[in-house]
Amino acid sequence: MDVLVVGGGIIGMSIAWRARQAGMSVTVLERDGPGEGTSHVAAGMLAPVAEVEFGADGRRLLELGLHAARAWPAFASELEISTGVSVGMLRTGTLLVARDDDDARELERQLSFRQSLALAVRRLRPSEARELEPALAPTVRLALEAPDDHSVDPRLVLAALERACASVGVQVRANALVARIELGGVPERVTGVTLEHGERVPAEQVVLAAGPWSGLIDGVPQAATVPVRPVKGQIMRLRDPAGPGLLRRVVRFRGGYLVPREDGRYVLGATVEERGFELAPTAGGAYQLLRDAHELVPGVSELEIEELSVGLRPGTPDNSPAIGPSALPGLIWATGHYRNGILLAPLTAELVTGALAGEPAPALLSACAPARFAPPTAHPETSTGASTAGGASAVEVGA
Ligand SMILES: Cc1cc2nc3c(=O)[nH]c(=O)nc-3n(C[C@H](O)[C@H](O)[C@H](O)COP(=O)(O)OP(=O)(O)OC[C@H]3O[C@@H](n4cnc5c(N)ncnc54)[C@H](O)[C@@H]3O)c2cc1C
Repeated sequence: MDVLVVGGGIIGMSIAWRARQAGMSVTVLERDGPGEGTSHVAAGMLAPVAEVEFGADGRRLLELGLHAARAWPAFASELEISTGVSVGMLRTGTLLVARDDDDARELERQLSFRQSLALAVRRLRPSEARELEPALAPTVRLALEAPDDHSVDPRLVLAALERACASVGVQVRANALVARIELGGVPERVTGVTLEHGERVPAEQVVLAAGPWSGLIDGVPQAATVPVRPVKGQIMRLRDPAGPGLLRRVVRFRGGYLVPREDGRYVLGATVEERGFELAPTAGGAYQLLRDAHELVPGVSELEIEELSVGLRPGTPDNSPAIGPSALPGLIWATGHYRNGILLAPLTAELVTGALAGEPAPALLSACAPARFAPPTAHPETSTGASTAGGASAVEVGA
């Protein structure tokens, strides 16, 4: 086997598909079933403009996000054509909406920031916003339109990726929990992995794409580790019994977002909570999501609740992903995509496939270099698989 991919989420499956297309033999080792981790609960916003944050890290992530957003239409249509599965891409743009004067002031600040970066964004008066989305409450104070921030349905993307991988000959092994990375040779390099029950699976190269659980796999030398922590997100799926039409665009606001699907379903997300691997949905989380959404889109209270779920975002200490070769030959990281793993999947797959083929790293990858987490005085001992747990348990909201 040329390549083992650990983790069958959107990142692992996208990489497996692209690497196989590039001529490598690829196996995905997935603890549960493919697409049942964080990617299963994500809303699917492709929103580099709406998500951009102040500061140097924010700008680096923006650059990645803009590249990824440009890659999505071709990725989606290639997936759809080769599998016959629609990935639910809706090119409707996004509205960022202010509900009170404080929000409006903040939105003006966000507008200037985006304009200073020459991003496509338009200021809308309340009447203009309500003309575009009549379901918005009359109390809306201001809105920004990000016309190029779109969405996909991650569950459909995963279904398509599973089929695409099967059609090109990627082996996907479910119920295959990777316990340990195996090393050997001089100089030391990856030789494969060992599964939970002791089976050894040899490989030339191993890609660690196990999402928020990526830091739990033993055997990675200290110098090659990436600290990954889980960041809990509660998210709700709603359905309009009257069919589609309440909202056409993604609507984001302080307190959350609503992402419409084509068929009258909506995704309402999401809390951002530092609670380790806790997976329980809470009444408080659900209340907060519905309260804030209802204030801006009162019609939300007519929708039926189909699901309340929890996902764990894979976060690194700087919340930027770790993509590319590690200090250990043969070990490649593809994790830490935090709030943007759906957006970044096609680009990650392309970058990792290049790294697997031994191509020099493009400049874009320097912001994601796994080596930035190497301890200053790295010792050759192996890690015990401990991940960095977040501290506070404050509830914020975001993708
Ligand atoms: C509420 C919420 C909303 C979000 N909304 C958006 C959004 O709108 N847009 C966006 O871009 N991003 C969004 N995200 C972020 C996005 O979901 C993640 O960044 C992305 O899904 C990460 O994908 P992944 O493949 O790395 O992880 P996962 O999907 O979690 O996949 C990792 C896989 O690895 C497997 N695994 C773990 N350990 C092992 C092991 N030891 N051996 C074998 N397999 C293992 C798991 O079972 C899992 O299937 C959201 C996240 C949350 C929680």
